[in-house]
Amino acid sequence: MMGVIGEPTDAERRVWQARDMIRALAMQWFGQGESHRFTVTTMRTGLVLSDPLDMLRATVLVRRVASAQERAYACDARGAGWSWAEVAGVLGFAEWDEPEVLAFEHVAERGGRPGVRRESVSWRCTSCEQRVTDTGPFGSHPTDVESGHAEACARHRAEIAAWVERTGWGQ
Ligand SMILES: [Zn+2]
Repeated sequence: MMGVIGEPTDAERRVWQARDMIRALAMQWFGQGESHRFTVTTMRTGLVLSDPLDMLRATVLVRRVASAQERAYACDARGAGWSWAEVAGVLGFAEWDEPEVLAFEHVAERGGRPGVRRESVSWRCTSCEQRVTDTGPFGSHPTDVESGHAEACARHRAEIAAWVERTGWGQ
C-alpha cells in the first residue's frame, strides 16, 4: 500500500514499532530510577536508558532471540508445506543464486553462527504429524531429501508424484 506523501508507510511504521518494542524491553530489563532520560534518536524523541551499553545489551538479546525464532518459524513453514524457495523469499534471498540452498544453510546454522551447520534440520509435517528430517534442497528423489513422513502422507505422496511427473523417471 502506498503511503500519502509525508505519511509514514506501513513498512516504516513496522520498523518504528519494532524499535519501540526493543526500547521498552531495555527499560524493563535494565532501567531503574534515574537511569533513563529523554533523548533525540534518529527518528524521534523517546525515553531511553542513559547508558547506551544497556540499550546495546537489550538489542543483542532481542537479536539472538529473533534469530532463533527465525530458524524455528522457517522450520514450521517447511512443516506446513512451504518450499525452501518460498522460505528463501521471506528471508530476503530471492535475488541471490540458489536462494533455496541459502535458505537451508541459513536455517541449519548451528546457534546462528555462519559456517557452523547441521547436516539436516527437522520439523513436524502438518500433513502426517510425523517428525521429518530434511537434508535440504540438494537430493533428487523426495524420499532422499525428507525422511520420516508416514507411509500414507498425502503431502509426501504428492511430492513424489510431482517428482515422477517432472523427471519422467519411475519411483
Ligand atoms: Zn508428512
